[in-house]
Amino acid sequence: MTALTPNRIIFNTAKKVYEGELSKSEGINTLVGELNINKGSAQMIIVQIFPKLLDGEQFTRTLSVDLFNSFLKFILEDYGEDRLRNSLSALKMHIDYIKEKGDAKITLRKIYQGYLDNLKTGGTSSLQDEIEQSEIVNQLKDKTKNELASELENSENDTSEKVTINHKSYKRNNKIIALIKILRNFECQICGKYILKKDGLKYVEAAHIIPKHKQGNEHPKNILLLCPNHHKEFDLGNREVINHTEKEIEFKLNGVRYLISLEI
Ligand SMILES: [Zn+2]
Repeated sequence: MTALTPNRIIFNTAKKVYEGELSKSEGINTLVGELNINKGSAQMIIVQIFPKLLDGEQFTRTLSVDLFNSFLKFILEDYGEDRLRNSLSALKMHIDYIKEKGDAKITLRKIYQGYLDNLKTGGTSSLQDEIEQSEIVNQLKDKTKNELASELENSENDTSEKVTINHKSYKRNNKIIALIKILRNFECQICGKYILKKDGLKYVEAAHIIPKHKQGNEHPKNILLLCPNHHKEFDLGNREVINHTEKEIEFKLNGVRYLISLEI
């Protein structure tokens, strides 16, 4: 069991109040007692911001950018995409309401836009995984290629389901995919293309050569990075694997032969 982060405890407490499992004052006391949050802030989170965020209504008081980011992530995890849409529209109204043009507003707008874009594209891995992978990429961006390669090796040998990066917990599989994306430059391994997102980051998808439902795992020898078109072709087209080793894969896709390196 990984211990819950403070942001998760805040979220779970506010959620219990929202769902009627705790009274407002019990919720507020939990935040004050367990996390040393001052009473005014606890009240603001539990009575104002959390319910309005979930119900898609405008709120005026603000939270730290980091807490908003966690809330959106947990709303997606616990309540699903429809509820996340509500929350994003509440957040949009809130961002428009904030008058100061500080860094917080800019970062909040980026977070909002990131979630919205992910909702639009859908992608092939789940939205949650996609978001987590982008977050991990962001966490690892200052490391050298060598450091990343050894992190990848360690993550492959690890068997735990979750890993921690800078005190945050992520699925180990998402860390591996994020590392493979960085180390292979976010480029489609068939055509070299990627999608450039508004935030300046590159978008590419991870295809499992042996699908997950056939016990294919997250490992460089089983992952091909593909642009969305080639990913669909790889999954839906006529594919014939000629040779597949640790180092490379040779296959025919709709009659065209490819030889692609799987090394890092
Ligand atoms: Zn491609």
